[in-house]
Amino acid sequence: MELIAPDLMRRFDIPGPRYTSYPTADRFIPDPEGASLIGALRDRASGPTLPMSLYIHVPFCESVCYYCACNKVITKDHGKAQDYLRYLELEINQVSDHLAGPRGQLSPVSQLHFGGGSPTFLSDAELSDLVARLRARFEFVAGAECSIEIDPRTVNGARLAHIRQLGFNRVSFGVQDFDPRVQEAIHRVQPFEQVEALMKEARALHFDSINVDLIYGLPHQGPTSFARTLEQVVRIRPDRIALYAYAHLPARFKPQRRIDALVLPGADLKLRMLDQAIEKFLEQGYEYIGMDHFALPEDLLARVKREGKLQRNFQGYHTNAGSDLVGFGVSAISQVGRAYSQNVKTLAEYYAALDQGRLPVERGLTLNDDDLLRREVIMGLMCQGRVSFEPLERRYGIRFAEYFYEPLERIREFENFGLVVRNAAEIEVSKAGWFFVRAVAMAFDKYLWQHTDHHRFSKVL
Ligand code: SF4
Repeated sequence: MELIAPDLMRRFDIPGPRYTSYPTADRFIPDPEGASLIGALRDRASGPTLPMSLYIHVPFCESVCYYCACNKVITKDHGKAQDYLRYLELEINQVSDHLAGPRGQLSPVSQLHFGGGSPTFLSDAELSDLVARLRARFEFVAGAECSIEIDPRTVNGARLAHIRQLGFNRVSFGVQDFDPRVQEAIHRVQPFEQVEALMKEARALHFDSINVDLIYGLPHQGPTSFARTLEQVVRIRPDRIALYAYAHLPARFKPQRRIDALVLPGADLKLRMLDQAIEKFLEQGYEYIGMDHFALPEDLLARVKREGKLQRNFQGYHTNAGSDLVGFGVSAISQVGRAYSQNVKTLAEYYAALDQGRLPVERGLTLNDDDLLRREVIMGLMCQGRVSFEPLERRYGIRFAEYFYEPLERIREFENFGLVVRNAAEIEVSKAGWFFVRAVAMAFDKYLWQHTDHHRFSKVL
């Protein structure tokens, strides 16, 4: 069964942002004093006490994966984690002082996510310490979603039990591919049996949701070997699957220079593997959530999607409607009210800022009304695949068809191919259109049409 027609693929597989935010992070401007973040935190402190999400970035990894495009520090020196945790606490204290404001009261936390790098680079004692400090500072709502990214090479059953006992109820395993040849070529060797055993442990520990990350387009991957990986993935049956396309950008990401471009699958093979994966997951009862994501029908993400309440932020799709996100650690991004803000990217800059009593912010942006409106449109497309005009017209005092005359002209081509359906009241992305939803959203991105250097981005598939 062919799910994505090759001619559509050739026409619409153009480079584009993943829209974990709008405006996208590359539009942020220098903000070394963290003015936009501080303003937004203070506004929040004087407004209603709404729950918020926290993100903690742990940048360390013991060895480098050659496909990596993350902000990380490769080291075997675990002593480095101690310094980092000390500074992390300074940042948490500074930000929570702003968040508490004159009322001296912090909003409750409804979501916590540990990402990296590899959060499991931290020892059990360090993880306990960090969680205890967060719990001492913030109140967590009952049933808060607490998730952590796990490098399967760094944990065993006992460590997993410890993570569960700390209150984490969601885990995400970085798998990428189970084929030994592919694993060797990406410098990330973790046999299927190891992940399968961890999966069984995680099930026995009753994590609410278990995610597996996969990548297609890696060196030596092909439909035959990828079919075996897919078979193994559905055998361990994670609740969620994230399936990313590998974007080979060695000029931007140094580790990728160790990947031999000659053994990378071409565009046609990548498309076949994507087709294979989609077919396999749907046949096995997974629901398509949106760009790159699948979930079992009973998983919260699938339920929230069916209810039309799916959200998207810097961590991808999430379930926490309207909640602000405060990020801690090097390169962490926050989204609070009208503000986006990103921390400095190196440990030296991070430590220096906190030593000087400053927030370690590097860049940020305060959104204007046009940004807010376009954010709603783009997130509506990315999450629900639909934008209804009337609520936006009412809230922003616009006529949708007039305000977005040019974007609506741009999406005509998608309409002609049945990827988008439009009537007088709404735009809806069709089933086939979902695979090109980034390209549809791009029509509404004002900054992209001001600067036409789209090639900074990876392709949409
Ligand atoms: S892919 Fe993940 S585990 Fe591998 S080097 Fe990058 S951040 Fe570390």
